[in-house]
Amino acid sequence: KKNGGACYAVFTPRLRTAAERHQKIRLKLADAIEQERIELHYQPIVDIATGRVSRCEALARWTDDELGPITPCEFIKVAEHSGLIHPLSYLIVKRALSELREINSALIEPIEISINRSPVEYLEQTAQQDFILNLSKEMGIPAELITIELTESFMLKDPELAIRLLTSLKDFGFNLALDDFGTGYSSLSYLKKFPFDFLKIDRSFITDITSTADDYQLVKTIIEMARILGMKCIAEGVEDEKQLQIIESLGCRHIQGYYFSRPLNASDFILYLKQAFPAQVK
Ligand code: C2E
Ligand code: MG
Ligand code: MG
Ligand code: MG
Repeated sequence: KKNGGACYAVFTPRLRTAAERHQKIRLKLADAIEQERIELHYQPIVDIATGRVSRCEALARWTDDELGPITPCEFIKVAEHSGLIHPLSYLIVKRALSELREINSALIEPIEISINRSPVEYLEQTAQQDFILNLSKEMGIPAELITIELTESFMLKDPELAIRLLTSLKDFGFNLALDDFGTGYSSLSYLKKFPFDFLKIDRSFITDITSTADDYQLVKTIIEMARILGMKCIAEGVEDEKQLQIIESLGCRHIQGYYFSRPLNASDFILYLKQAFPAQVK
């Protein structure tokens, strides 16, 4: 959980080589960033009130020749601990915006994009220094189409700084999403002060929503709380029809998960929309 909801760790007798693996990934990641070999997959987020894909989340993908596919949880963590997060994130934002342009050029109406950012990126910078400002201008993508996803840990380190930073990102027009909600430690009083537009309910609450009364009640409460605070909810990790029906009945309007689609590369994402949401495609 400390590494984020979607992470897992494998404990083997080779754990003593964890430091070696970290070091190896760090060196290879530096090359991969330099050669722009980090790719992005896009997962649709469906607005069930309109029945259309209103946005997508960009998720980083990296396959090394020798090590094979490495999860974003693992390489983002290495990047955060080595300073590589800055060039990595720059590459990710640049690619996400340029591929969004490609996706939107195939669509009748543009969709929005959610991009994950690491708290580490923001700890010692102001919103004015965030490269996403210039990149969005250069790429001709209005800030209003961009949502920055941050996890709760961001608010804990320095809440006052976080509020200032988030408020000025909002002033520039960006939307903000609180990711993996429920897995961290955010207190209600903090939540009230932070200008988040979206609250993303972590997959771990959705998984057993059909079978576990506690999870059902928790999700119900989270959705209600978001409504009171004026935030929109996105349910993460919706995998089947039954989960979808329950979440819909609880009033959550935005749905993300394998039920609709796994994350896909930009061209497959366009193909998916053609097939599953033909009315949106030119
Ligand atoms: P996240 O931002 O919470 O992203 C959602 C994760 O849930 C993704 O895992 C996605 O593939 C997975 N997921 C979505 N729907 C389902 C479902 O129905 N079932 C299951 N089992 N899984 C589902 P992924 O791509 O492995 O990413 C894991 C985490 O790595 C992300 O969690 C995010 O915290 C981080 N991450 C990924 N890309 C980036 C990035 O570009 N920058 C940063 N800073 N972090 C990233
Ligand atoms: Mg998650
Ligand atoms: Mg996310
Ligand atoms: Mg999440």
